[in-house]
Amino acid sequence: MQYKYDYLIVGSGLFGSVFAYKARQAGKTVLVIDKRPHTGGNIHCETIEGINVHKYGAHIFHTSNKEVWDFVNSFVPFNRYTNSPVADYKGKLYNLPFNMNTFYALWGIRTPAEAQAKIEAQRKESGIVEPRNLEEQAISLVGNDIYDILIKGYTEKQWGRKCSELPAFIIKRLPVRFTFDNNYFNDDYQGIPIGGYNKLIESLLDRIEVKNNTNFFEDRKYWESIAAKIVFTGRIDEYYEYRFGKLEYRTVRFETETLDCGNYQGNAVVNYTGAEVPYTRIIEHKHFEFGHQEKTVISREYAAEWQEGSEPFYPVNDKKNSALYEQYRRLADTECSVIFGGRLGEYKYYDMDKVIENALNYF
Ligand SMILES: Cc1cc2nc3c(=O)[nH]c(=O)nc-3n(C[C@H](O)[C@H](O)[C@H](O)COP(=O)(O)OP(=O)(O)OC[C@H]3O[C@@H](n4cnc5c(N)ncnc54)[C@H](O)[C@@H]3O)c2cc1C
Repeated sequence: MQYKYDYLIVGSGLFGSVFAYKARQAGKTVLVIDKRPHTGGNIHCETIEGINVHKYGAHIFHTSNKEVWDFVNSFVPFNRYTNSPVADYKGKLYNLPFNMNTFYALWGIRTPAEAQAKIEAQRKESGIVEPRNLEEQAISLVGNDIYDILIKGYTEKQWGRKCSELPAFIIKRLPVRFTFDNNYFNDDYQGIPIGGYNKLIESLLDRIEVKNNTNFFEDRKYWESIAAKIVFTGRIDEYYEYRFGKLEYRTVRFETETLDCGNYQGNAVVNYTGAEVPYTRIIEHKHFEFGHQEKTVISREYAAEWQEGSEPFYPVNDKKNSALYEQYRRLADTECSVIFGGRLGEYKYYDMDKVIENALNYF
């Protein structure tokens, strides 16, 4: 059978765009469709007052994979942005990740030895040997103070459940740094594309046919008839018409506001770790690119239960959903002309670098 395209790529997020780029480079014919009015999926930025606003949540690129870093930098240079979030608990500020600056603010101590002794004493005092839930797990790793001030409220808002009711496995490690280093990531490379993420996507999709506002499911038979292979980066359960049931997600609601001031909070990311503040973070977008615009744009983030119609952001990888996904995955394994990729196609939280790596490897 003669097809119009070698590949139909459903979704113009990072996975779809990298795949499309590689396919085109290999001389294949490609069509990309996306149901959203823009390309880029969740890394898409909207320009407000000259500021690149991360419409679907703050995105900070970080990786230790040199190949991936060189790949993205070959499309657009990245700036030197280093993620150093600050936590606000009842009006007092603490540096993240947990490091000597945090311990100084918490306890007024100045040396690594003092900090280690303090954490060790609190861990011992808790008497927890086999943590039965996330609360016990966190206390057994970092002690009571860090848990109460910096973990409890934030995590409970994120999951919409008490830490004592959440499984321990959610937190495997809690990195604690005994240096005065506020760099959140341990990766070798990090930054933001100069001029924003849209530049990266536009370069990847350069000279590739793209149709926006186009939902695969609205004319499934037609889309299936035009390409030899389909790369599907939407929800895998939707692809199979939910035959085993619906996968669950967590979502985030954003309240975005333009303010008549040049600098609202002095940092791109401020986490609110207390239960009395309903949002989890405030993002001030201009600081990702060291902006000097007259105004500023902030987004308050509210974690929420996902419902049909809201954005499926974070897969819930608990036992029930993992087992359900496994059923879909087995079906997917039997397909010879459909490739499932990306965070929705594989029902897995992936950072951007991993998505790019996967797309490069697939091709
Ligand atoms: C709130 C949040 C913050 C994040 N922050 C970071 C970060 O700081 N650093 C980092 O490395 N990673 C971060 N990530 C992860 C990052 O967003 C992902 O790794 C990456 O965007 C995934 O790309 P993707 O192509 O798999 O999915 P997506 O970007 O979701 O793209 C999928 C595309 O498919 C389209 N689509 C779906 N169904 C259909 C259909 N039926 N028909 C047509 N089109 C369809 C969608 O419209 C979408 O455009 C974050 C994720 C979230 C949710």
